[in-house]
Amino acid sequence: MSQQNVQNAKDIKFSEVVKILEAIEATTQRTTMAKLLAMLIKKCPPDVIDKVIYFILGDLRPSWEGVELGVGEKLTMRALSYATGIPVKQIEELYKKSGDLGEVAKKVLQMKQQKSQQATILSFLGASGSGSPQRELTMGRVYDTLMQIAKATGEGAQDTKVKLLASLFSDAKPEEAKYIARFVVGRLRLGVADMTILDALSTVFKVKREVLERAYHVYPDLGHIAKLLATKGPQALQEIKITPGIPVQPMLAERLSSASEILSKLGGVALCEYKYDGERAQIHRTRDGKIKIFSRRLEDITHAYPDVVKYIEEAVKAKEFIIEGEIVAYDPETGEFKPFQELMHRRRKHNIAEAMKEYPVKVFLFEAIYVDGQDLTMLPLIDRRRKLIEIVEPTEHVEIATWRILDDVEELEKFFHEAISNECEGLVCKSIKPDSIYEMGARGWLWIKYKRDYRSELTDTLDLVVVGAFYGRGKRAGTYGALLMAAYDPDTDMFYTVCKVGSGFTDEDLAKLPQILEPYKIPHKHPRVVSKMEADVWFVPAIVLEIVGAEITLSPLHTCAMNMVKPGFGLAIRFPRFTGRYRFDKKPEQATTVKEIYEMYLRQRKIKIVESQA
Ligand code: ATP
Repeated sequence: MSQQNVQNAKDIKFSEVVKILEAIEATTQRTTMAKLLAMLIKKCPPDVIDKVIYFILGDLRPSWEGVELGVGEKLTMRALSYATGIPVKQIEELYKKSGDLGEVAKKVLQMKQQKSQQATILSFLGASGSGSPQRELTMGRVYDTLMQIAKATGEGAQDTKVKLLASLFSDAKPEEAKYIARFVVGRLRLGVADMTILDALSTVFKVKREVLERAYHVYPDLGHIAKLLATKGPQALQEIKITPGIPVQPMLAERLSSASEILSKLGGVALCEYKYDGERAQIHRTRDGKIKIFSRRLEDITHAYPDVVKYIEEAVKAKEFIIEGEIVAYDPETGEFKPFQELMHRRRKHNIAEAMKEYPVKVFLFEAIYVDGQDLTMLPLIDRRRKLIEIVEPTEHVEIATWRILDDVEELEKFFHEAISNECEGLVCKSIKPDSIYEMGARGWLWIKYKRDYRSELTDTLDLVVVGAFYGRGKRAGTYGALLMAAYDPDTDMFYTVCKVGSGFTDEDLAKLPQILEPYKIPHKHPRVVSKMEADVWFVPAIVLEIVGAEITLSPLHTCAMNMVKPGFGLAIRFPRFTGRYRFDKKPEQATTVKEIYEMYLRQRKIKIVESQA
C-alpha cells in the first residue's frame, strides 16, 4: 500500500487506528468501547474494513481458518533488533524488566528515534548518516505484511518472517510498534469481543442486531460481514448462506434437574438422547470431498482427528454435508467409554499417530444441519433426524447417538440412569414440536440437558468379587475384556452386581486373569449371584479385587441395593478401575457389602446437598 492509496481513501493510516486502540485500552466502559469502535469503523474505507476488524480481534483471519503467524517472542525481538540496530541482548534485558513486548517495542523505537535525531544533528554538523527515510504505515500494509509473514513456511521461513516484521518496525512510530509487537505475540489485550463488534456494526450500518446476529451465526467471520456491509450494504447479508467448510454457531442446551420438569417444558414428549462425555464436533464435507472438523469453539480441529475423518468418509453417504456429533474416547477391547479428560490428553499430544493408538475414539452423531445443497436448520428435529439416519450407515466407529422418544417421567428417569450406567453424563432431551428448528448460537429450551451435577471422586476403594467376565476383542482377544463385579450382602448371603470393570489391568494382569479364574469357571450364573447382565463366562464368587471409581450412581442395570433408593434401580460404580491389588487375603464374604455401598451413596448425596446449599 502506498501513500497514494491513503489519499484515495482506499486505506487508513495505521496511526489513526492506533489512536483509537489507545483510547479503547484506556476506557473502563463497554459503551465507550463500542462508541470508539463505531468511530473507527466509520472512518475505515471499505477496502480495509475487514483488515481493521481482524486486527482488533487479534487474528489475521477468523479463528476457524487456523491462520497462524508463527512468530514468537524471540523472533519479534530479533526483528526489532534488525530494524533498529539495537542488540538483541539489550532488548531481552528490557523485556525481562517490563514483561510486555509491546512496551519494549515502543521503547526500542524511541531509542532508535533518539539515535537518528542525533545522527541528523551530526549530519548538519558535517558528519555522515541520517538513517533511511520512513514510509508512513497504513492498515493495509501492516495487515498484508503480517499475512505474508503467516504464509512464510518451510526452509528459511524464520529469516523471511524476521525481515518482513523488521520492515514494519523500521517504518513504525513507537506507539505503532507497540500494537504490532503485541499483535504478533498474541497479546493485544484489547478485550474486544465479537459481540462488541456486532454492536458497533449495527450502529454504523443501521442494521438490526438480530439480522446481524443471524449472519454471524451462519458465517462467523466479522471481517467478511463488515466488508459485505461496507461494500454492498445491509441487503447483502441476505446472501449469507450456510456453506460447508464454514462452521455455524452451535445450538446449545438449557438445563433442568428433573424428568417431570423436562417433560412438561417440552410439551409432554421429547426425543431423549444419551449425553456423551466427549468433545462436540461439527463435521463438514465440502464439495471437493474434503472433511473438516470444528470444535465447539469453532476451531479447526481436523488435524487432531485423522481417524475420525476416515470413519466419517466410510460411514456418511452424502456428497456435501454439515453434521454434528460427539467424539468419545473408548476402550476397543471392552467397549467402555473413557472420561472426557482422556480425550483431552489425546488433544495435547503432538504425535497424532501415537495419540490415535493410545486414545481410540468413536463418533456419536446427533444432528444433520446441511445435506447436499439443503439447509436443514429450519426443519423440525424429526425431519433432520430422518435425514441423518438416511445418510449414515453405522460402523464400528460411527453411530447415531442412542435416543428414544419418551412421554413418561418414569421411563425418562430410567433412560437417564441407563445413560449414566453406560458412562454418559446424562441425557439431552430435545423438543420434537413443529417449531423444533436448529437454533444456531442459541441456548434455548428446545434442548434441555439433564445431567448429574456433582462429581466427587470416590476416595474409598471397594473390594469386589468377580462373578462373571466378558470376552475381550482386539488386543484383548483370548483374555477377558471386562469383569462383572459384585458386592456381598450378609443378610441374604448373595452377591449383587455393581459394575463392569475393564480399566486398570496391565498386560501381565490380562495374561494371568484367565488362569486365576479358571478353577472357578461354571457354565451358568452362580446361584448366589443376582445379575441382570448376561456375562460370557460365569464364576463361583471367589476372587476379590480392589476397585476405585468416580462415584456411585443409580442404575437400572445393576442389582446392588436394588429398590433401596428408588424402585427399579440399583447402585453402580461409575468409571471403575482395578487398582492392581488382588485381595487374595479376603474371602468373598469379606468383600465390601451392599449396605456399605448404599451408605456411601447416601453420604455422597449429602455432600451434594450441602454443596448446593453452600
Ligand atoms: P456441558 O458442559 O454440559 O457439556 P456445554 O455448555 O458444553 O455443556 P450445552 O449445549 O449446554 O453445551 O450442552 C450440550 C453439550 O452436550 C453439547 O455441547 C455437546 O458437546 C454435548 N452432547 C453430548 N451428547 C449430546 C447429544 N446427544 N446431543 C447434543 N449435545 C450432546
